[in-house]
Amino acid sequence: MTKHPANSWEARADAHSFYGFTDLPTVADRGTIVLTHGKGPYVYDVHGRSYLDGNSGLWNMVAGFDHPGLIAAAKAQYDTFPGYHAFFGRMSDQTVMLSEKLAEVSPFERAKVFYTNSGSEANDTMVKMLWFLSGAEGKPQRRKILTRKNAYHGVTAVAASMTGKPYNSVFGLPLDGFIHLTCPHYWREGRDGESEAEFTARMAQELEDVIAAEGADTIAGFFAEPVMGAGGVIPPSAGYFQAIQPILKKHGIPLIADEVITGFGRTGNTWGCETYDFVPDAIISSKNLTAGFFPMGAVILGPDLADRLQAASEAIEEFPHGFTASGHPVGCAIALKAIDVVMNEGLIDNVQALTPLFEEGLARIAEKANIGEWRGKGLMGAVEAVKDKDSKTPFDGSLSVSERIANACTDQGLICRPLGQAVVLCPAFILTESQMDEMFDKLNRALDGVFAEVG
Ligand SMILES: *Cc1c(COP(=O)(O)O)cnc(C)c1O
Repeated sequence: MTKHPANSWEARADAHSFYGFTDLPTVADRGTIVLTHGKGPYVYDVHGRSYLDGNSGLWNMVAGFDHPGLIAAAKAQYDTFPGYHAFFGRMSDQTVMLSEKLAEVSPFERAKVFYTNSGSEANDTMVKMLWFLSGAEGKPQRRKILTRKNAYHGVTAVAASMTGKPYNSVFGLPLDGFIHLTCPHYWREGRDGESEAEFTARMAQELEDVIAAEGADTIAGFFAEPVMGAGGVIPPSAGYFQAIQPILKKHGIPLIADEVITGFGRTGNTWGCETYDFVPDAIISSKNLTAGFFPMGAVILGPDLADRLQAASEAIEEFPHGFTASGHPVGCAIALKAIDVVMNEGLIDNVQALTPLFEEGLARIAEKANIGEWRGKGLMGAVEAVKDKDSKTPFDGSLSVSERIANACTDQGLICRPLGQAVVLCPAFILTESQMDEMFDKLNRALDGVFAEVG
């Protein structure tokens, strides 16, 4: 029950909106923050308060909240052709052009693109594509999907099954046949005395062992985020992808890169797989794809999967799958502009230019007694709160340290939601150096306040 007056925005939000991924005690206590607009990397609430959004919305508003070129592209497309589908041999001109562009900027020599409305749907679609291939290629038992603990692949029944987080047990998930390997987080998962190279070798050996135990011909695919995002910004241990990809290749298991966060610049290159120097068999894209200005996801198939899916579809004359708004012309027009803005209007350059300053800021925060580790790549980073630095012991759950940090940040005018006990920063790519300083100053003050209470 809210303590806010019945006609307040806070009470009205409570009355008829069912919250997802929201800490209900916090909302009951502090009220929902109801936002009206944004400017650059800032958002403004109904009371006129401004917040620097250190998470660029949900990782996706990389060009800020009022980018004039993106707004103009959306308006122009609404004026021209405000909606269409991509079924029955029809699609908009914008859809054709976006697929050409995605193929061109992909790491593949040839590519084909399938559109969805979200990252979850794109992962679901990829799994259905792999299952479709298994049937069509006479291997109907080839259905298991490998991912990692702490991975985040979305919330639909399949994407949630791929996600390696304990909260999905409340839904009776994962579904059968979704297998979660060890999270390649050296700081947390490395054993005493184990070098990073030995750790990576152990991850590869685990993959070999799981494939041997399950049977290579029962496994349809391996999905991985180049840097785990919602798991708490976890870059892989050194050499991880170089160690696992040959094993997958040897067993004919496709490697799918879930680049929903890392795609289009977050790690300082167009793709996270570029940053980590591997070429997957397909890429899942969403979030930055439209710079957050339209809900859209895409499966980008490399040549091998594209050819095999084409053959399997031709055999039954169609691929029986698609969403009403797949390839929406307004979304495609926005994505075309967003890709141009990120790649050609200096946003990736700014990510690269800001990365040293960003890393310095994270490293300074990690000097605190209650920060166990900082980690990151490009403009995605995290610091991990711990009760004890040497033993890496987390704070007791009952202290709600994550929520305290989030709320202390909000009080400072900074939006920055912790994930687990890690505090995640993933600002917009348009950030200036002074806004970067402001972000770290606010986070510093918030953390000092919280650690003074619970440390
Ligand atoms: C956000 C996210 C998804 C899910 O995307 P939605 O659009 O929320 O369905 C999938 N994979 C990764 C890596 C993500 O970060």
